[in-house]
Amino acid sequence: MRIDIVTIFPEYFGVLDVSLLGRAREDGILKVEVHDLRDFTHDRHRTVDDKPYGGGAGMVMKPEPWGEALDAILPATPALATPTAPTEVPGVAQGDSGEVDARSGATGGPIVIFPSPAGEVFTQAMARELSSAEHLVFGCGRYEGIDHRVFEFAATRASVRLVSLGDYVLNGGEVAVMAMIEAIGRLIPGVIGNPESLVEESHEDGLLEYPSYTKPAEWRGYEVPSVLTNGNHGAIAAWRRDAQFERTRRVRPDLLPPE
Ligand code: SAM
Repeated sequence: MRIDIVTIFPEYFGVLDVSLLGRAREDGILKVEVHDLRDFTHDRHRTVDDKPYGGGAGMVMKPEPWGEALDAILPATPALATPTAPTEVPGVAQGDSGEVDARSGATGGPIVIFPSPAGEVFTQAMARELSSAEHLVFGCGRYEGIDHRVFEFAATRASVRLVSLGDYVLNGGEVAVMAMIEAIGRLIPGVIGNPESLVEESHEDGLLEYPSYTKPAEWRGYEVPSVLTNGNHGAIAAWRRDAQFERTRRVRPDLLPPE
């Protein structure tokens, strides 16, 4: 998989050299390129923001550097000619979000993800879906966000998604992008040594995972549930399933179907 990241803080992504994703990069499973948005500016101060039209607090990211960054990463091809009318970004234009595909009927092309608290919420299902993409581009917003026309322009070159990490506001998209890349990257075949370990995880089957234990069987007066130590695989599986339901009901009842 190829990943391009556009940011004004490239140093945030140094952690991609570490651990499993670092090894995946060494092995060529993951190719990551980080682009400094300021390299696409042309003034002495390398300006990427300006005051919002209509007034209000904060600054908005200017469209021009974003346009040049996207031109460099996703060059226009004759087959993807710029539309004659401004591209409607379904949902996004109305203030919410949704996948946009400017190539009618296109499948498997690049996907541009803009992290945004106003986007669709990132889930394990989305991570799994995106893990089969060949090319992901992440655009990290800062300040009050990116000029909306950038999303419409990006949709002339690729599928575009605005994606939220959750119902809270971060200072910038970098942390959200790191979380998404880690969740997506670990699902790419070859990144995790034992793919079995991905199967029983929280959110894979709609439930939270059961509690896990390792040796010693007794630690500081706390004991491992005896069912896990008696070698009865049927009983262990049943205990784990019950524990999944109990934990999900207690912590995240919203994940369970209505009774
Ligand atoms: N004014 C924006 C709003 O109210 O929707 C928030 C801008 S936020 C301070 C700056 C950037 O942080 C956003 O453009 C986005 O890239 C990122 N960001 C903030 N919260 C996020 C979240 N929950 N999920 C994903 N990205 C987020």
